[in-house]
Amino acid sequence: MADPKGFLTYKRKVAHYRPVNERVRDYFEVEERLTGGERIEQARRCMDCGVPFCHWACPLGNAMPEFQDKLCRGDWEGAWAVLQETSPFPEFTGRLCPALCEVSCVLGSNDEPVTCRQNELDVVEKAFELGFIIPRPPKKRCGKKVAVAGSGPAGLAAAAFLNRAGFSVTVFEADKRAGGYLRYGIPFFKMEKKIIDRRLAIMEAEGVVFKTNMRVGDGFFAFGTSAEGVQTVSVKELLADFDAVLLTIGARKARDLTVPGRELSGVYQALDYLSVQNRILSGEKLGVPPISAEGKKVLVIGGGDTGSDCVGTANRQGALAVTQIEVMPSPPVSRPPHQPWPLWAGLFKTTSSHEEGCERLFAVNTKSFAGENGVLKKVKLCKVEWASENGIPRMKEIPGSGFEIDADMAVLAMGFVHVVQEGAAADAGLETDQRGNIKTDGSCRTSAPRVWAAGDSRNGASLIVRALADGSLAANEIIKSLKG
Ligand SMILES: Cc1cc2nc3c(=O)[nH]c(=O)nc-3n(C[C@H](O)[C@H](O)[C@H](O)COP(=O)(O)OP(=O)(O)OC[C@H]3O[C@@H](n4cnc5c(N)ncnc54)[C@H](O)[C@@H]3O)c2cc1C
Repeated sequence: MADPKGFLTYKRKVAHYRPVNERVRDYFEVEERLTGGERIEQARRCMDCGVPFCHWACPLGNAMPEFQDKLCRGDWEGAWAVLQETSPFPEFTGRLCPALCEVSCVLGSNDEPVTCRQNELDVVEKAFELGFIIPRPPKKRCGKKVAVAGSGPAGLAAAAFLNRAGFSVTVFEADKRAGGYLRYGIPFFKMEKKIIDRRLAIMEAEGVVFKTNMRVGDGFFAFGTSAEGVQTVSVKELLADFDAVLLTIGARKARDLTVPGRELSGVYQALDYLSVQNRILSGEKLGVPPISAEGKKVLVIGGGDTGSDCVGTANRQGALAVTQIEVMPSPPVSRPPHQPWPLWAGLFKTTSSHEEGCERLFAVNTKSFAGENGVLKKVKLCKVEWASENGIPRMKEIPGSGFEIDADMAVLAMGFVHVVQEGAAADAGLETDQRGNIKTDGSCRTSAPRVWAAGDSRNGASLIVRALADGSLAANEIIKSLKG
């Protein structure tokens, strides 16, 4: 610890967002950056407490105190060296992670936590700027080949890890370009896609082969694309050519809302909506008509982060008004007794998208969609209350609480139920677990020989940091299995 009194001297300072009236007119990243000097001061707030719960909370096991220690001495290269030992792509997590580490920071037990996420981002961006991150191909190849299906964070982490260990890795991606939700889910205003391209260029120079427009099995089709040029390869064919197959195909079966009027034009799944906007911004040719909120009253159904991304997108497209509803009650603003420090706490959150304009309603359920000539015009809603029955939360409609709102566009952002079971998983005859995801043992092995699975496809919809950790775990298990 370079500064034993740093946490007493400096207050937490975060890089804020660009002004609302400026940022809603473009899709560039909203978050600004502190100066290098301010960043170093923030690293000085790390107490090197001796019981680093930040490290415990991070699925990657990032050594936070150690990299803060280097950073607060102005040693950017040293900080990068520590960070890259555990984190394959800090430029993604530095922008997008909900920072489980900060929630568990010891300083956070009676003060504001260290700005670990933004410190990480500045370290990795400085490392790129100063040329520390360059292609480092393996010195020799081990002669074994691995096929990775899916190029989201889990697939990319596994591919990078295996490649560095000398395996020849080919990534098969069904979509037009690699990146998974990083590219076709998360909006540009949270992470511009040049950040993914910069990393992919390094991986390609290191020897990873990317085959896009290549579906493994025929169960998944990327919304918004045309079928032109898309090829299909079966898991069986891959097993004939490769020593191992790793499925990192995500949990892409979206939760639907089976209420009257669901079929009306103007009701969309969140991911369809977000992916089309990202394709437009990337200059891709669309295989479907564009979906725009311009001049519309928009209802976003689902109060989570995906819903918030839809709010931000609708405002940028020029929506007249945006309302977001959530069936659960509003979360507390401070830690409830059952989620004490250092545990994760589900607290009320206002995202950059909420700040840009949105009415938020909680404990509200959707009863039906109503339209004219097949087009959505109104949504019928009601208020609900939650009560515990034998420890299980049960929702009840409050009698007489029904109301309706005008809406000519509704976006369903209610999460994802499990992996798409048709195609790759069915193809290989894989067993699924109780939640419908690919069943694996603790070392990511599926029920089929030489087939592994990682990321959301086995864990269910989660976080980038967990997908990265899981991809690295699967890669390690494959290495152990193939190298003995
Ligand atoms: C809108 C949205 C916003 C999010 N925001 C955040 C955030 O801010 N922070 C955060 O931590 N997490 C966020 N998440 C969650 C996070 O993106 C996921 O948990 C993570 O991307 C999962 O990684 P993955 O590699 O397992 O799967 P995915 O990212 O889903 O990647 C799977 C890949 O497999 C490909 N694929 C599917 N089937 C096949 C097949 N048969 N053959 C070949 N390829 C196939 C897909 O095209 C895709 O490229 C968000 C999710 C969404 C939807």
